[in-house]
Amino acid sequence: MTARILVVDDVPANVKLLEARLVAEYFDVLTAGDGRAALAICENRPVDLVLLDIMMPDMDGFEVCERLKANSRTAHIPVVMVTALDQPSDRVRGLKAGADDFLTKPVNDLQLMSRVKSLVRLKNVSDELRLRAQTAHTIGLRELAQADRPDEPGNVLLVDGRASSQERLQRALKPIAEVAVISDPQAALFEAAENSFDLVIVNANFDDYDPLRLCSQLRSLERTRFIPILLVTEQGSEEMIVRALELGVTDYIMRPIDPNELVARSLTQIRRKHCNDQLRASVQHTIELAITDDLTGLHNRRYLDSHLKLLIDRASARGRPLSICITDIDRFKLVNDTYGHDAGDEVLREFAKRVRATVRGADLACRFGGEEFVIVMPDTTPEMATIVAERLRLMVEGRGFGISQGDTVLSVTASLGIATLRPGDDTPEALLKRADMALYQAKSNGRNRVVAAAA
Ligand code: GH3
Ligand code: MG
Ligand code: MG
Repeated sequence: MTARILVVDDVPANVKLLEARLVAEYFDVLTAGDGRAALAICENRPVDLVLLDIMMPDMDGFEVCERLKANSRTAHIPVVMVTALDQPSDRVRGLKAGADDFLTKPVNDLQLMSRVKSLVRLKNVSDELRLRAQTAHTIGLRELAQADRPDEPGNVLLVDGRASSQERLQRALKPIAEVAVISDPQAALFEAAENSFDLVIVNANFDDYDPLRLCSQLRSLERTRFIPILLVTEQGSEEMIVRALELGVTDYIMRPIDPNELVARSLTQIRRKHCNDQLRASVQHTIELAITDDLTGLHNRRYLDSHLKLLIDRASARGRPLSICITDIDRFKLVNDTYGHDAGDEVLREFAKRVRATVRGADLACRFGGEEFVIVMPDTTPEMATIVAERLRLMVEGRGFGISQGDTVLSVTASLGIATLRPGDDTPEALLKRADMALYQAKSNGRNRVVAAAA
């Protein structure tokens, strides 16, 4: 992981110390000796994280943080407050100012690295989301254009062996999350696998159970692999923490727990989980857009080309029948010529609706191009396919197609050609070709009819 980190402190020795540690981990480090310089750097250069001292002359860390968060150009940069005094009141003020996390001087390496890495990970996914939202906005895809909504309440699973701490942690997390509590760590694994949590908090306080076992199981199960884990440990259990981080535990917090710290850490993880989920959904959506026909919402030709091959292979392997139907609207050019292209589009949309209403869930309906549609019907003999096609033909002929232009209702018919998979070595192209020949036959026999290709 590489990132650019800005260290802000009025004491040069403190700056040097943090800089040296971060550079040793290959981070790119910028430094500032006061608040104004820090604000100027964030305005003008890409910064991934700010480590911000609180007590500085002139402008203190709270004010710097407030200004960063109030400026839309810098609001997305995570800020870690570095405080000399381990004062709970400082943390509350820091949170109010918009700080994302805290570190206490003298800063220990483990803390520094886990905090920095957590927040840089979060920034990476939220940057990617913002970028996608921007692109979607530019090309006019409204659904994808809304940027991250990371602050919806999270779903947290708290695994804790003791009733007293369960109650305390639950209360602390209440403002930011729905918390499910479980005492038995083995049952927790199932709970996590069966639900969709944004964060698992493991309190290492079981009588005779190694909490790292649960962490490692959570990391190895397919369904829980990506859920962030926050480990709560005893003061001084550095060795356990190092092992936990190696196992893939995302962050840790030490007892006695400062509720503000717990909230800040949990929020970072919940946000990252939400951003990741959104990113995955946006990838899914992009794929859907690429295989969907804009006008009708049916699958497009590209999808048919790749999916028909799979359906044919599967039918062949199982020795099952498969039929396809190509349908083409009769004299469609006349609709466009008489009523205009927009009216033609309306007819296509309504036609697609009727196609969708005719087919079963297992069938694949696509717009093949222009006014041609293809329906792929797995497990369907030519006789059955003929019945389906006849039903569609009647659905088209039986009821007029309304267009918005002056309450006009058009009579529309379609011709349909059917072909069935030949066991053995049929290809998508050959199958489509036979269906197309049958369609051609239907057209030359007078249109508004179904013709099945000889098997
Ligand atoms: P036939 O009965 O032989 O199929 O006659 P036809 O007029 O339907 O056939 P032809 O292939 O000559 O014309 C198809 C028309 O479909 C021509 C084209 O302008 C129109 N078309 C293709 N795609 C679209 C579209 O997306 N929207 C509209 N409105 N028209 C389209
Ligand atoms: Mg036509
Ligand atoms: Mg045509």
